Amino acid sequence: MSRSSLFTLRASLLAAAILISAVFLAASSRQKITLNGVALGDSAELLIIDHVNIWDGNGGVMIKNGVIVIEGDRIRAIGPRGSIKGGKGVTILDASGKFAIPGLIDSHVHFDQSADIYTRPDAVDLRDIRSYEREIEWTRDRMPETLMRYLRAGVTGVVDMGGPMWTLDLRDSARTSGTGPTIAAAGPLISTVADPELDGVDPPVLPMNTPDDAIGLVRRVAQRKPDLIKILFLRDPDVDLDRETALVELAIKESHRLGLRVAVHATELETAKAALDKGADILVHSVEDKRIDSEFLAMLKARNVIYIPTLLVTERYDQVFTNAVKLTDIERRLGDPEVIESWSELPRIPLEKIPGGIPVAALLASRPIQFLNLQLLAATDMRIAAGSDAGNIGTLHGPAIHREMELMVEGGMRPFDVVIAATKNAAAVMGKSKELGTLEKGKLADILLLNGDPVRDIRNTQKIFKVMKAGKWVE
Ligand SMILES: [Zn+2]
Repeated sequence: MSRSSLFTLRASLLAAAILISAVFLAASSRQKITLNGVALGDSAELLIIDHVNIWDGNGGVMIKNGVIVIEGDRIRAIGPRGSIKGGKGVTILDASGKFAIPGLIDSHVHFDQSADIYTRPDAVDLRDIRSYEREIEWTRDRMPETLMRYLRAGVTGVVDMGGPMWTLDLRDSARTSGTGPTIAAAGPLISTVADPELDGVDPPVLPMNTPDDAIGLVRRVAQRKPDLIKILFLRDPDVDLDRETALVELAIKESHRLGLRVAVHATELETAKAALDKGADILVHSVEDKRIDSEFLAMLKARNVIYIPTLLVTERYDQVFTNAVKLTDIERRLGDPEVIESWSELPRIPLEKIPGGIPVAALLASRPIQFLNLQLLAATDMRIAAGSDAGNIGTLHGPAIHREMELMVEGGMRPFDVVIAATKNAAAVMGKSKELGTLEKGKLADILLLNGDPVRDIRNTQKIFKVMKAGKWVE
């Protein structure tokens, strides 16, 4: 053997040893399966995704012809490929020409909302046709199917950004059942304004009117161990902004004291700045009334605040209310057909049965500002996460995130950054960056295999080859 080929052999053996050192250490006593000449052992059930192009979500270059070794629910090894010899206990998937990215994470959904026309009586009041109680019951009955829609759409993690206390139970049961995405949840929204249409035994919105409310409500929700606290910072024209800001500040301080991060709905530049000034960790929507300014950007940057633009939700309200819904292929394929069907019922409902009518006017008026602000944020390298606000009328649980990602690119983000926004940064919204959001040794094996490169065209996230949730293929 020549010196140069010996050198090449040594170099490749070294690379192999680095790649699978963890596997080797654990299983070196058995010598039936080898990766790059190193035994993997045969006791473990190993799965190898072979010859795959990998975007690991960490912002580095693509690994061409890579390999991902999965044991149980975890990634055991990941990196460039050497030689693999299969054997008992090892399943090898040839993923030549495929692209692996971390499972997508939708960082803003509401499981108490079905996306049908009856789900938001505070937006369009159809309680004469279907009561809110019945609607919630239907939504909850359908939950196992709804959760599967996320997995089929390649979404392996979601954040319920505010809902009844039962959304926290849902999170807990999803943790143990293993039949849906990993869920983080905020529990009831603590709001500066009441939402009487949604009241009931377990309301999604808890209004705070006094300083005692602000602290008491945070404590009440905190007892149920939410992953974060959500505050609705809405302007009540009859209430002084300073008074509302003081309540928001108290709620944020109490949350932080209890070790909980705070996500704030504040869509005006003035309220968003007030929320940031008082310590908000996440902004859950775009600023949509004014162009953001350097002061706002500096506030975001100073504490690495995450901004979730939610561009899709207004488009879809508008489309449903004007009976002009345009779905993407993946939404048609994976969206709930009964929900989609409900949208066509709206034009057939006599207007006298809809108190307040259908709020069609000016829904999209804020859109140019939302897009402009996203462009400014992207250009200044702010931390952006993808979230669809699914569950709102027209925004389908499961596939909605794909359309949201398309809109983020239209708004001026590079597909490369949108992938990170829908994986790594969304995992940070969940508060689960150690477990999820990137493809790394030791993390949960939540993997999306695509037929096209999403960094070339973001719509390639819709060309799903296979989805893996915690080491298991989604059927
Ligand atoms: Zn929302």
